[in-house]
Amino acid sequence: MSAPRVLDGIAIAAEIKAEVALEVQSARRHGYQPGLAVVLVGEVPASQIYVRSKVKTCAELGIYSEMHTPAADATTEQLLSLVHALNRDDAIDGILIQLPLPKQVDTARLLEAVDPAKDVDGFHPINSGRLLNGAPAEQVLAPCTPAGILEVLRRSGIPIAGARAVVVGRSNIVGKPVAAMLINASATVTVCHSQTRDLATITREADILVAAIGRAGYVTAEMVRPGATLIDVGINRIDTEAELERFFPGDAARREGLLKRGSALVGDIDPAAFAIAGAYTPVPGGVGALTIAMLMSNTVKAARRRRAGS
Ligand code: NAP
Repeated sequence: MSAPRVLDGIAIAAEIKAEVALEVQSARRHGYQPGLAVVLVGEVPASQIYVRSKVKTCAELGIYSEMHTPAADATTEQLLSLVHALNRDDAIDGILIQLPLPKQVDTARLLEAVDPAKDVDGFHPINSGRLLNGAPAEQVLAPCTPAGILEVLRRSGIPIAGARAVVVGRSNIVGKPVAAMLINASATVTVCHSQTRDLATITREADILVAAIGRAGYVTAEMVRPGATLIDVGINRIDTEAELERFFPGDAARREGLLKRGSALVGDIDPAAFAIAGAYTPVPGGVGALTIAMLMSNTVKAARRRRAGS
């Protein structure tokens, strides 16, 4: 069997960002600049890091951005009035509410208050409904991580139509929308979750296996069909040398990283499974790299569609 192909998420994200930058230039020639508003409630360190990189990427691509940082004790009503103001603001094409929100906030109510035309995270029921209905891509703002997965498959020439795809995980953010997108692309899709019986029998049937579980190295080599395409969405931190040795035996560079930073990243797929794959997305440097690129792509799409009045 030939060596597995690494599906380089960083390179694909760079390609998408370059295309977005060209679209932004074209928008500016037509007299407008796509704009993104990011709402970060409270001071969750991980969210602050994500938000900063979103704002930085906007600047790199020429997208206008603004940050709103209500305090951690903000009420649902206060946040609703911010969202309503952003919905009315013509300089804003995309509204991103960084999750998770503090406990006192009604997250569903807030996400549903976002104008579907500005819903660049693709979480509004109008957009998820359109996605399920198989509406043309131009009419849907799809969630960024699943959209990134489809870009990786398409741009890497992995056949989707007719393929047997298995998605492990049924979250609204990843599992369900990626399953819908794979169905729309004519794969035969099975969705698994924590109550699935005999998971390994199902995952072994997959030509394309998407793991979005949130458990380090949960999908082992025995659960994978040799030659399959493995899409690893999981981002899990491990912090002991024993865990590192289990997943990356003898990997001196990762060990040095763990000692320096106190943790290392591993996906939901045991790296030992990658060795028998046909192709796989690494962690880090795989699917994770695509999410911000697709957010930028959704922002210019929203700007284009708003100007076209559709
Ligand atoms: P989530 O909301 O916690 O959902 C996890 C899913 O995995 C659930 O559907 C759960 O089943 C299923 N599951 C849990 N244990 C299982 C088991 N033993 N066997 C089979 N299925 C099991 O997580 P998420 O938001 O989808 O995220 C999943 C992973 O992707 C996380 O590591 C997250 O950090 C990562 N992620 C990465 C990106 C990115 O790359 N940018 C974006 C989003 C998420 P039940 O529904 O039955 O509980």
